[in-house]
Amino acid sequence: MEVTNKYVAIKANIDGAPQESDFELKNGSFSLLVKPGSKDVIIKNLYVSIDPYQINRMKTASESQTTSVFATMIDPGKVIDAYGVGIVIASGNPEFEKDDYVVGLLSWGEYCVYNGPYLNKLDAMGLPLSYYVGALGLSGLTAYAGFFEICKPKKGEKVFVSAASGSVGNLVGQYAKQFGCYVVGCAGSPKKVKLLKEKLGFDEVFNYKEETDLNLALKRYFPDGIDIYFDNVGAEMLEAAILNMNLHGRVAVCGVISEYTDNGKRAVPDMLSVIYKRITIRGFLAGDHMGMFPEFFSKTIDHLNTGKMQVLEDVSFGLEGVPSAFVGLFRGDNVGKRIVQVSND
Ligand code: NAP
Repeated sequence: MEVTNKYVAIKANIDGAPQESDFELKNGSFSLLVKPGSKDVIIKNLYVSIDPYQINRMKTASESQTTSVFATMIDPGKVIDAYGVGIVIASGNPEFEKDDYVVGLLSWGEYCVYNGPYLNKLDAMGLPLSYYVGALGLSGLTAYAGFFEICKPKKGEKVFVSAASGSVGNLVGQYAKQFGCYVVGCAGSPKKVKLLKEKLGFDEVFNYKEETDLNLALKRYFPDGIDIYFDNVGAEMLEAAILNMNLHGRVAVCGVISEYTDNGKRAVPDMLSVIYKRITIRGFLAGDHMGMFPEFFSKTIDHLNTGKMQVLEDVSFGLEGVPSAFVGLFRGDNVGKRIVQVSND
């Protein structure tokens, strides 16, 4: 049976800050039947992830497009693959059956067909399906692997996290607090600052937009220096953090969102500080740490069930809202994991 599949596409490559007008809602014809002999899984998308890295895929050229299988170039007019949760409509793959919930690489569309390795059956265990897009999905793994594997924390260390109210940042702060670190975050509004301190238990939080000198701001919050900086934003914040790092400090470069939409903006860290303070600056991709998924998952489920961690998510309804949800990431509109619910469960 053929149906119309609505999906979101870019009209042309995007090389600056994205606008809603850069996107269009397209209609494609889509078969709900499995091709005879294929291992296709036909999926109705339920919740799709809205992630900053997609902007690097939308550019005419970006380092990401040639170095990661998850971040290849997006062609104008074509379906955009994205992490999400869906329900199986039909399957030629014996591992999946009709009505199974699945999590993996779906699309910014109503339906998708999948026959690759990045799809798993999902048992939601009574938790909201959306959790598996964020805190119990790739954002969670990014925060967990980035903090524990890349930053190698010790109890009592002083941790700074930027974009702290975002999907990855809020989880890094919560893992670090659970682990016994002193945690300071920065975020872009008074509402976010209040939430991180009062709801998520960060030790201190500041609004970086209200600071005229980031170096002095960090000195105020870290009079004894920073041991770990979990960087989500890059540019001036990374430069200021480097100036405040302690000997043998570790910087996990998770993302540099402030540089994604501005080709001329790049961090110029003080390399003498890096050398003499023996600072490790290490970029990482969550996809390289899938081996940690079982450990991450069981610890995080445990923390959620015992109330030690909370899920911060920002879910809107309707595929047509994907462009504004995506564009809003670069204005700081989201609080927590940004997700679009495409269809009812
Ligand atoms: P997110 O933090 O939920 O959303 C983006 C946030 O970034 C916004 O809410 C905004 O918060 C902040 N922001 C936007 N523009 C900014 C700017 N110019 N300067 C400073 N802050 C800005 O997104 P996420 O999914 O958790 O991703 C966070 C970072 O991790 C991104 O850089 C992303 O690319 C990266 N990431 C990396 C991996 C990996 O495997 N390495 C995986 C997932 C994500 P404010 O209100 O604080 O400005």
